[in-house]
Amino acid sequence: MPSSSPAMKKRSNAKRAVSLYIHIPFCESKCPYCSFYSTAMAPGKVENFLGALEAEIDLLKAAHKVLPDVRTTYIGGGTPTVLGPSHWVRLIDILEKGFRFLPGNEVSVEANPGSISRELISLWKEWRVTRVSVGVQSLRDEDLFLLGRSHDAGRSAEAMKIVTEAGFSLSADLLFGLPGQDIRGWHESLKGVIGAGADHVSVYQLALDPGTPWGDRPPAGLAEGYPLYRWAQYYLEKKGYRQYEIASFAKAGKWCRHNVVYWLGGDFLGLGPSAWSCNGFERSRNVIDLDEYCSITGRGELPVCFSEILEGDVLVSERAILALRTRWGIRSRKFSALFGAGSLDTIMQRLEEIPSHLLKRSRGGVYLSREGMRVGNSIWQMLLP
Ligand code: SF4
Repeated sequence: MPSSSPAMKKRSNAKRAVSLYIHIPFCESKCPYCSFYSTAMAPGKVENFLGALEAEIDLLKAAHKVLPDVRTTYIGGGTPTVLGPSHWVRLIDILEKGFRFLPGNEVSVEANPGSISRELISLWKEWRVTRVSVGVQSLRDEDLFLLGRSHDAGRSAEAMKIVTEAGFSLSADLLFGLPGQDIRGWHESLKGVIGAGADHVSVYQLALDPGTPWGDRPPAGLAEGYPLYRWAQYYLEKKGYRQYEIASFAKAGKWCRHNVVYWLGGDFLGLGPSAWSCNGFERSRNVIDLDEYCSITGRGELPVCFSEILEGDVLVSERAILALRTRWGIRSRKFSALFGAGSLDTIMQRLEEIPSHLLKRSRGGVYLSREGMRVGNSIWQMLLP
């Protein structure tokens, strides 16, 4: 059984550096397709959140005596840029007091074109930020209007410009499968973010998650995602962006090291409401409500609402699926050292019927071809226990 393998025991006892995620739980307004936790700003709420974040770090320190060092950092949400400069000064202070950042730390911040400002850019420049991920979504005003976004394409162009002028690595998020979207419009957005100097592009298909307004009542005229995704793969690769994960393309050496940690089964510590953490094979989640988060930490308790030990077939399938999302795929030697040769055999048997134009096999392991990435969801089904 994987849970009793020597590597697993060794892994769970060792002191390791982690990847740190901070969830900023505020947005200007709620987008109709979004299932991430966020709430509206209101007087005093940001101060309460920052106080609770500091308390969460102190509680973790008290529980574990010493906090792990940080090797990558990601400040996401929500919308980190709705916090003004003075709140950012406080946030930075809290993080600097709480953690030791290892040299070469990659620090990413998510930015909304509607709220990014030169003041924030200056602060980030003085601090440790290395990458800014701008939520462009589309460079067509009609798409942005439909999505209910507060910014227009001109504002996105301006946001990307101030990010690159400041010398940050620019990542741009784009959405495809939008109502009425065609290849021409999609190409315009891809070309626009490349022209703006993005060295990393993430392309996400519009998801219709249950519980969101669009999940419950999908808008009319949704575009078929497959040809748009195929075009992104073709065009971005032609322009020198390597696809290193199902939704992620980067110029050489510019992939997001923080996200790679999630896909390759590394340890991460998530702080803030709704944030997930994974320590070895223990996964946990914080409460998904800001007021609850503040009141639990205020009582001196860790705000964890869920935790589980990942083991057995569930763990093995999950790690196989995550690895196959990436261009590195499942590396046989590493996989069997972690989970045992029998687990690797089980996964390989489940993948046996996948044709070679979708799944590439080499002596080192298996990985999805470009075509395979287009049908990833059907491949995951075959890997489920
Ligand atoms: S701005 Fe981003 S996090 Fe906020 S509601 Fe919209 S999609 Fe969700």
